[in-house]
Amino acid sequence: MSIDIKGVNKLFGDFVALEDVNVTIPTGQLTALLGPSGGGKSTLLRIIAGLDSADSGSIEIEGVDATKLPPQKRNVGFVFQHYAAFKHMTVAKNVAFGLEIRKKSKAEVRDRVDELLKLVHLSQFAHRLPSQLSGGQRQRMALARALAVEPTVLLLDEPFGALDAKVRKELRDWLRRLHDEVHVTTIFVTHDQEEALEVADEIVVINEGRVEQKGTPDQLYDEPANNFVMGFLGEVTTLGGHLVRPHDIEITTDPISAGAEEGEVSRVLRIGFEVRLTVLTDDGEEVVVVLTRTHARSLGLDVGSHVWLAPAEGANTVLALDKAATSG
Ligand code: ADP
Ligand code: MG
Repeated sequence: MSIDIKGVNKLFGDFVALEDVNVTIPTGQLTALLGPSGGGKSTLLRIIAGLDSADSGSIEIEGVDATKLPPQKRNVGFVFQHYAAFKHMTVAKNVAFGLEIRKKSKAEVRDRVDELLKLVHLSQFAHRLPSQLSGGQRQRMALARALAVEPTVLLLDEPFGALDAKVRKELRDWLRRLHDEVHVTTIFVTHDQEEALEVADEIVVINEGRVEQKGTPDQLYDEPANNFVMGFLGEVTTLGGHLVRPHDIEITTDPISAGAEEGEVSRVLRIGFEVRLTVLTDDGEEVVVVLTRTHARSLGLDVGSHVWLAPAEGANTVLALDKAATSG
């Protein structure tokens, strides 16, 4: 059981927002939809929720064909970047809202709200108004509200996108722990690769309306299907015509390995514990190499140093601009 997206296409006028999207989202896991802005993530999420419809294709949720079901029949909870709370209602009332319209008993509603507020660490703010909460607290309230009606699927569209970096990081740790407690099938949209790598069990990379790759964070990072995924999930540089991660390059001051590229350090940047070098090779490539401060010091590296570069053992490399490596 899962969410099964089959052959979904979506056009806005003649603009292709989604093109033959086929993907299965596993039950009980936290799956990130990751990709650059404008790639089609929100469109896909809205189609899963039933807020928008595909031109063709089908959506199955836990074995039920939901393609033509209205949103309220799909049993999905939704949280957007800017959550619209009922301003005149307390936090507890906001969370209770969905339960009350479902005609639950007073005692039932009270117990469930207590439980949810505890879950999102807002018990002590139950009687505040939304305007008296911080941005992060408001998004946690939104999650409690979405979870109140026990959705089959929780859909989160950049829920922390409007918050500052520090709060965003706290909330993603919190979301991970929350998910480990409640295990509701969750789809989390983000354009932030670090956020996806940290939070998700599985990541679906979406770009220009197409699924580029789906896999665990490790699979995507270590075995990217193509240039796009490799570049989107971490920093890359070009060495000998191959994409490679800058910290996966072995740098020496002697020509120890055959086939290493020879060059000269043209720039040195020291940032915290790492040193970032730009090396201009004899072939005219500008290669970025990242190493620790200690390592750079032990090699005595500075601007003008003569060096040899080779991919470190086990480094993953993708032939730059190799169309053959690009899956559809
Ligand atoms: P993402 O969430 O990945 O940033 P979206 O799914 O919001 O991307 O949008 C994908 C593309 O579809 C964008 O180019 C966007 O401008 C376009 N788009 C989205 N919604 C509409 C709409 N209602 N009408 C026209 N174009 C739209
Ligand atoms: Mg979006």
